[in-house]
Amino acid sequence: MESSEALRETILTMSREVDFLRTETTHANLLLNALDTVLCVEGDADPFTNVFSALLPIFDFTSAIVLVEKNATADNNKSDLECVAASDKPVIGTHWQLTRLFSKALSGRIISTVDRKGIREWPHSIADRFSSAQPALIFPLAVREHRGLVILLRNDNAPGFDRNHVTLARKFSLLASHAFAARQASLNEAESHRLKDLTEKLKTSQEALRYRANHDELTGLPNRFYIQELISKMIDNKQPGERLALAFVDLDEFKRVNDLYGHVAGDALLREVAQCLQSEIRASDVAGRISGDEFVIALDPVEDYADTSAIIDRLQHCLQQPLEFNGTKLLPSASIGIAVYPSHGSDYETLRRHADIAMYRAKLTAKGSSSFFTRDLGREADERLMLEKSLHDAIASRGFYCALQKKVDILSGEVTGFEILARWVDSEGRIRSPGEFLPLANELGLLDDITMCVLDDLIKRLPELDSSFGPRTEYSLNISPAQTTNVPFMTELTRKLQDQNSQRFFLELTEEALSAMDILEREVLPMLRSANIRLSIDDFGTGYSSLSKLAALTVDELKVDMSLITAIHDRPRNQIILRAIESLGSALEISIVAEGIESAAENDFLLRNSAISIGQGFLFHKPQLLDEMLGTAVA
Ligand code: C2E
Ligand code: CA
Ligand code: CA
Repeated sequence: MESSEALRETILTMSREVDFLRTETTHANLLLNALDTVLCVEGDADPFTNVFSALLPIFDFTSAIVLVEKNATADNNKSDLECVAASDKPVIGTHWQLTRLFSKALSGRIISTVDRKGIREWPHSIADRFSSAQPALIFPLAVREHRGLVILLRNDNAPGFDRNHVTLARKFSLLASHAFAARQASLNEAESHRLKDLTEKLKTSQEALRYRANHDELTGLPNRFYIQELISKMIDNKQPGERLALAFVDLDEFKRVNDLYGHVAGDALLREVAQCLQSEIRASDVAGRISGDEFVIALDPVEDYADTSAIIDRLQHCLQQPLEFNGTKLLPSASIGIAVYPSHGSDYETLRRHADIAMYRAKLTAKGSSSFFTRDLGREADERLMLEKSLHDAIASRGFYCALQKKVDILSGEVTGFEILARWVDSEGRIRSPGEFLPLANELGLLDDITMCVLDDLIKRLPELDSSFGPRTEYSLNISPAQTTNVPFMTELTRKLQDQNSQRFFLELTEEALSAMDILEREVLPMLRSANIRLSIDDFGTGYSSLSKLAALTVDELKVDMSLITAIHDRPRNQIILRAIESLGSALEISIVAEGIESAAENDFLLRNSAISIGQGFLFHKPQLLDEMLGTAVA
């Protein structure tokens, strides 16, 4: 969950960067236009009208003024400035006093008066036109042989000019001064060469900018915006009867590679994948990277499904080549979904979404496989989407409740505790079991909310439960592997349980949770121990827990999975496994609970042939919602 947050954050940052680069490219273009206008004006015509309109989209000003320095005359030994161009015509020809601020600009400084303390000394003749509250941007501009400057003004109270404007003004000031010099020298050979050179350089850097805006830095492939543009163009060019296939490639277990071997290995794998894609597709196809470990390919043209499958198989083969990284062998694979134009969609977005749905199916079927989109898949995806929405709604309306199943002494049937099981009561009042919603809730990162909601339901009714079953009754709460290692979540949970006599609570973890021993041992277990919360390993016998981990963890209880208990009296192999689990339990002083006891025959077998004394199962009790439970208990 955390990593999906991080991924989302990265995608946001990436798209912000791309936006920024796009803006820069646009600005570079506009500057070029402005320069062009300086160069293209014939003879003595005023170039400024065009320059102003070229600069307007970049700087968004309301008035523009160009002043040039006039040399001291005999009758006035102070030099001053004369307005040679202005967007407000009456200002042209006015004389301006050479203030310290203007001197600075003349000698090369860019001044932006964002603090609104800018120009106080307007010439008297025009003082009523401008106010000192107008944000101003002033930059030098050599006009013919004179030093000069440009003043751009915004309206009173408009936002000031920012650092980007200052950078752009500096670029423009430099280039435009050269342009004027070149014009003055009647396009003097050397100067025009220099200018051409500068313009070329600007063009090259603009091309580099455009490349950066369109390509993914890590793999060099087109990025999500550019690939969309490219594929949309391919689709636009299709003639009736022609087909194109869009493949959605998603690496399997990429997160694990990052987690286990670090981001450097992850990056190396992504580059390798990009190379694979580029080497296997044809010259007319394109491939792009649309997010972390997701790629999109357009195969254009394709004849039929067989034709498309052949290319995809080649790709799969290449993607599955083992990769050596720092002495570790990685065995990458990818799941691929394919949607075909025009049968599965007539625009990029629909094709991409359908290919994504098909990819999801491929991933469920087998890692490293591929799947074509079908209408049925589309329907399933719609249903999933609806479920997704109702789950979100259910979280908002706190539609999750606590059901309890008794843990009993299998000899006497006496209640020793309860297992807390989540139930969703949907908008139509149907009671939905975890199998229907937990996998999706987990994927969507909603499990923490559900757990808290269910626990709150229990806590609210705990006084009633205590008066029926006694205050020492134990409660077991199921915790998913991701939750187990989520320290903030576990901290909140511990705090909540501490308010309720935490020593009566068990947390049921699955064997899978034990794989993150580090965090468990360092951060989670000490916290649980100090709150006297006990640990139980759920579904024991179905996972792959290493016995050494079990010993290190000092868990309090093992719950033997129902698959081992069902018909145990008829299954000698399961009897042997159960005996082994029992002796492990007694050696490590871990109590053993049998789950899913449905028949008297199973229970009899356990009573006669094992030392197990605690069990759970429909034979004793089916899970009940609290309302029902307390109703029955009271009756
Ligand atoms: P689990 O932890 O193994 O819980 C026991 C499941 O077996 C429960 O199913 C229970 O109703 C069912 N069960 C108990 N005795 C019998 C029996 O004799 N016969 C049969 N056929 N089934 C029996 P439920 O409530 O549908 O829960 C399914 C799974 O969903 C649970 O398996 C648990 O892994 C998960 N789960 C339930 N609530 C939560 C929760 O709040 N958080 C998390 N993380 N997982 C939960
Ligand atoms: Ca359980
Ligand atoms: Ca279980």
